[in-house]
Amino acid sequence: MSASTSAKPEHFDVLIVGAGISGVGAAHHLQEQCPNKSFVVLELKDTHGGTWATHTYPGIRSDSDLYTFGYRFKPWTGVPIAEAQPILDYMGEVIEEDHLDKHIRYKHEITGTSWSSDDKAWTVTAKQLDTGDTVQFTCSFLWMCQGYYDHKKGYTPEWKGMDTFKGTIVHPQIWPEDLDYKDKRVVVIGSGATAATLIPAMADDCEHMIMLQRSPTYFWTGENRNEMADKLRSLDVPEEWTHEIVRRNILAEAKDIQNLAASHPEMVIEELLKVVREKVGSDEIVQKHFTPKYRPWQQRLAYVPDGDLFDAVTSGKVSIATDNIESFTKEGILLQSGEELKADIIITATGFNLLPFGGIPFEVDGEPVDFAKHFTHRGMMLSGIPNMVSVFGYLRTSWTMRVDLIGDYVCRFLKHMDEKGTSVCTPTLVGDDVNMEPLPWIKDEDFNPGYMKRGLQMLPKCGDHAPWIYNTDYYSEKDQMPEYDLDDKTMVYS
Ligand SMILES: Cc1cc2nc3c(=O)[nH]c(=O)nc-3n(C[C@H](O)[C@H](O)[C@H](O)COP(=O)(O)OP(=O)(O)OC[C@H]3O[C@@H](n4cnc5c(N)ncnc54)[C@H](O)[C@@H]3O)c2cc1C
Repeated sequence: MSASTSAKPEHFDVLIVGAGISGVGAAHHLQEQCPNKSFVVLELKDTHGGTWATHTYPGIRSDSDLYTFGYRFKPWTGVPIAEAQPILDYMGEVIEEDHLDKHIRYKHEITGTSWSSDDKAWTVTAKQLDTGDTVQFTCSFLWMCQGYYDHKKGYTPEWKGMDTFKGTIVHPQIWPEDLDYKDKRVVVIGSGATAATLIPAMADDCEHMIMLQRSPTYFWTGENRNEMADKLRSLDVPEEWTHEIVRRNILAEAKDIQNLAASHPEMVIEELLKVVREKVGSDEIVQKHFTPKYRPWQQRLAYVPDGDLFDAVTSGKVSIATDNIESFTKEGILLQSGEELKADIIITATGFNLLPFGGIPFEVDGEPVDFAKHFTHRGMMLSGIPNMVSVFGYLRTSWTMRVDLIGDYVCRFLKHMDEKGTSVCTPTLVGDDVNMEPLPWIKDEDFNPGYMKRGLQMLPKCGDHAPWIYNTDYYSEKDQMPEYDLDDKTMVYS
């Protein structure tokens, strides 16, 4: 049994949870914009990076370009679609350049947090993973950057007969370091970004791979280079300018595509399928395996840099099966069509489990918090929960674009509270809002991948008007967020 070691908890103005891309970004903005605030970052892993440290499967890479997945304040100089290590290095450089290391406490797993209105502070309890000790911190403001899924375990559906399979079943989120797939027959269940990444990375070594999907995914592809960045660099334009110009260009182009996908989905679908057809050279394959049922951008588009997945298919090293699983067998997988896919290794690239607020138990004045019963305030704070912001990035634009915007908002907010001479702010339902009908965090027609459908009921609710909504559209929110009225009647200061 671990013991509580600190008699008096250390106090910080701000406590940041998590040292992923959101937490490191939060620390940067706080240090730069509110230099007088004391802060600490608590991270359960022994390193920074979050998602990019958790996932170690072959080829692990981004599906967004790093000009927009990177921060606005630090130029990205590598190829647009990057593997995990360069992303970790990039974040490591931010930590080094900003001297953030002294603020980050690794191997601290937060196990509970409670707000006291009497003390006007949060008490955060953490387990120190190397010693097993329990430590406590207090903070005036909590900045939750814990991500949105369970880092400990991925999502694997239960299929009949799984226990009879003689081979190895692997979920990409927990990749066994010693997995030997040389000359093995591998079936990958799923066709999202993870499958599209690990298949080309493994195909040459395996005897054969099959991508097994229940239904197809939209892919888009292109060379893994940015023409504009190359041109600007050839002109010796400073990297800061290149970063900003290329970001703006990518965002402008993406906006046009998103608008077109909403207004004329058939045009976007035609273009996406045309590119795949050119790559795989067969209309039949495109019809059968690459024509999804949903609208583009209802789920993230999986990007295939340099068409490597399609090359793996045309080389014959990879085939695709679009069918439902009847059961696992001793030798592999039996499909509903009656076909059996033989395998030595089955990789379940079936996604992750949504885990709001890192699964950390919260209390406010001794009452446990059920997040699903609270309304979001501008997609950052929660009704009735004082002094707490949680980062949920964009889903159709790079996540990090919202990390920077929220960074500015929180710093503006903290300065505003200081100017007002107040120390507590609570988003509060007032007037007719008290009886507002709760709506889901995100609408199905807006964004509907499996993890969101499975976990939606755990997320906070939206109302039908601002400020009780999570705006998923970067292009409107980037202009709105700097203008949000910090003194509107829904923000109660005390
Ligand atoms: C394989 C993969 C690829 C992706 N690619 C992209 C992409 O290309 N573009 C894009 O926009 N999005 C992408 N995403 C989504 C991606 O997760 C986010 O964009 C981003 O990395 C999230 O960063 P984060 O810092 O908010 O959260 P995370 O990366 O999840 O980091 C959260 C951190 O908080 C820590 N933490 C959690 N709970 C606790 C606790 N109780 N105590 C202490 N610490 C805790 C975790 O250990 C972790 O380090 C991808 C996701 C996956 C899984």
